Amino acid sequence: MHIAVIGGGITGLSAAWELQQRGTDYTVLEADPRWGGKIVSTTLELNQSKFLVEGGPDTLVTRKPEAWELADELGMLDQIADPGSETRGIFVLDRASLHPIPLSPTQFFTTPLLTLRGKLRLLAEPFQPARRDDGDESLADFVRRRLGQEALDKFIGPVLGGIYNTDPERQSILVASPVMREMEKEAGGLFAGALQRAFRAKKKPVRAPRFITFRNGLQALTDELARQLTGDLRLNARVENVRTEGHGYRIQTANGESLYADAVIFATLANQTATMLKDISPQASQRLGEFNQQNIGTVSLVYRETDIPKEPVVNGLMIPRRERRLIDAVTFTSRKMPERSTPGYAVLRVFIGGGAPETVDMPDHQLLAVIRKELAELLGIAAAPQTWTVFRWQGGFPQAEVGHLQRVDKIEAGLPPGMTLAGSSYRGIAVPDCIRQGREAARKTLMSLRGGTLPPTSRTQQ
Ligand SMILES: Cc1cc2nc3c(=O)[nH]c(=O)nc-3n(C[C@H](O)[C@H](O)[C@H](O)COP(=O)(O)OP(=O)(O)OC[C@H]3O[C@@H](n4cnc5c(N)ncnc54)[C@H](O)[C@@H]3O)c2cc1C
Repeated sequence: MHIAVIGGGITGLSAAWELQQRGTDYTVLEADPRWGGKIVSTTLELNQSKFLVEGGPDTLVTRKPEAWELADELGMLDQIADPGSETRGIFVLDRASLHPIPLSPTQFFTTPLLTLRGKLRLLAEPFQPARRDDGDESLADFVRRRLGQEALDKFIGPVLGGIYNTDPERQSILVASPVMREMEKEAGGLFAGALQRAFRAKKKPVRAPRFITFRNGLQALTDELARQLTGDLRLNARVENVRTEGHGYRIQTANGESLYADAVIFATLANQTATMLKDISPQASQRLGEFNQQNIGTVSLVYRETDIPKEPVVNGLMIPRRERRLIDAVTFTSRKMPERSTPGYAVLRVFIGGGAPETVDMPDHQLLAVIRKELAELLGIAAAPQTWTVFRWQGGFPQAEVGHLQRVDKIEAGLPPGMTLAGSSYRGIAVPDCIRQGREAARKTLMSLRGGTLPPTSRTQQ
């Protein structure tokens, strides 16, 4: 039995890890010359100083345990670092001025972001009727229903819209934030649900930080995973075509390689998978090709600390699309994770591509000019960065619109036998979601090939 995994991002590598744990032969085919996909960490050097920056994800939420569990299996727990709270010093741009997101009671009562009416509506959340069915709705409809229109417009929409690089009016709540619907279902509302969860967390003997990262960057996880995978791993192997052969599939790559597999796990984005399925499953290919994938990019810039205005102390800035700026968000990496920087310098990460998709296609000099102008106008940073780098993903950020999970179920049900989809286009975009999906895809594939049984893992055998 041989299984092909297409895509060597965290999803594909996790699928391969699960197959390896269960004693199954596999080949991972990755188009790029490196493993990890969007997980990419690099070091910028300036004189004698080093700055560790992330191109894609930088922190992982521990409420979803899959990344922690994988790190444990790989023997990497000692490399985990706590990036601190993600919520302090976060600002939102509203009508061209910066406002702290009100998280403390004092901030809440004094913020000019919300009118008195908006504040009262938000405080009335516990008295709103709870929705307890499993039907989908947009992120915007959910927030409007529970917290009111102003909370949606002024900070919750911009924050969640920023995290998911999306329009909250179209984004599926069941994909973006199922936990909010779970809290409503279990506790009757968000305040009650948050209290319940905080109480449960307090009772746990060991309290994990809310977010984790890896001391040497998140790429340490995919590097270690690739290092411990002992199967057939192929880089520079872009799959062009998959067709039926006997009881399995013949996979053809752009560099002329050909591989036979009994089953195939597609750990690639929906639009990428659509191209590979064109001949073998035209209907699935057409539907996957219709999935919306947005541009996204990150730009990391190193400044002299003296070039950054002292006030306000901004850790993060969310920029709603209605403000019509050319950047979507800014994080002060050196304030969030000072150990990745050098004293005397400030490192900023700017997110692009959501509000103004064309920025991701701009040549470097034009992009830098745009970013300098935006940072000067928004944060008063007039100086040029000392050094900088950019990561671009054209059409690389999948969107999940209302009804998404049902659409995915339907597409999967129509796939040829032994073909499985996994990854950020399908059932959650965060890294732990991708790990879960990769591992589930491996188990599902094995079950389908073995008539419903699953070989034990090397861990359960011990
Ligand atoms: C800027 C940014 C910030 C993010 N921040 C966070 C965060 O802080 N926390 C978090 O949890 N998540 C975050 N995410 C989301 C998370 O990083 C991604 O959803 C996740 O890494 C996707 O992993 P994947 O393996 O499914 O896809 P990818 O990483 O896209 O991997 C897919 C792989 O398939 C390969 N491929 C494509 N076509 C072919 C083909 N034809 N043949 C062979 N190989 C092919 C690609 O080269 C790629 O390596 C962020 C994402 C971005 C872009």
